[in-house]
Amino acid sequence: MNFHIMTLFPEMIEQILSTSILGRAIDKGHISFEAVNIRDYSNDNKHHKVDDYTYGGGAGMLMQAQPIYDCFLDISNKIKEKAQSDKKPRVIYVTPQGRVFDQKLAAELSGEDDLIFLCGHYEGVDERVLEEIVTDYISIGDYVLTGGELPATVMIDAIARLVPGVLNNNESAMTESFSNNLLEYPQYSRPEEWMGKKVPSILLSGDHKKVDEWRLEQAIIRTKERRPDLYEKYIEENPPKPPKKSRRKKND
Ligand code: SAM
Repeated sequence: MNFHIMTLFPEMIEQILSTSILGRAIDKGHISFEAVNIRDYSNDNKHHKVDDYTYGGGAGMLMQAQPIYDCFLDISNKIKEKAQSDKKPRVIYVTPQGRVFDQKLAAELSGEDDLIFLCGHYEGVDERVLEEIVTDYISIGDYVLTGGELPATVMIDAIARLVPGVLNNNESAMTESFSNNLLEYPQYSRPEEWMGKKVPSILLSGDHKKVDEWRLEQAIIRTKERRPDLYEKYIEENPPKPPKKSRRKKND
């Protein structure tokens, strides 16, 4: 999967995406990314200006349409040439005015071959170029950041780790928080006892069935406590089984 990021600060993107698990996934060829500097497409050869005042007044500057559009055309032409197909890649404008990003959307987007991200800055972007190129408006939450580089890398990280091969152990993405509308169960590593706190004995039992049951139970308890909204969704999709007593009678 290939990520193409239109930005005024490519070094921010490069720094984050070439580190740790994603860096290894790039080396192995599971994913690739290019951070493209919108400034390189400015018609202003002297100052490479990409922003201007907003019509109607108001604080701050706005990113202009032309450099972004030319940057987009260059990226999409390259994608078309490489893929030798007319399939148009999704173009995501990261914006506080978008649908809020979640694990479900990350999973959906991880099935794409190419994704183009547009990072805004200053007061945002001229509406006309958004109308022309954007397919998805996506936010990382109800707060305002100074630029789109952090939101874009947050989304790319979450999407990339769902691309097959990126995580060493594919199972970990399947049991993690938000799969099946549950938060992940508590986990422990060595030593068996730390500050007087012992690892739950069931995890040392070697009984995998019992461990799985305990983990599911803990995930349910934790989700109910910390994220009642998610717990409600889980219960809707997994209605509680009949009380234990009647089930025991059946099995007897
Ligand atoms: N004036 C804009 C508004 O009120 O909606 C906010 C502009 S913000 C200062 C600059 C850029 O940061 C935006 O164009 C967007 O790309 C990015 N951004 C800020 N907060 C974001 C969020 N919660 N999610 C995604 N992108 C965000």
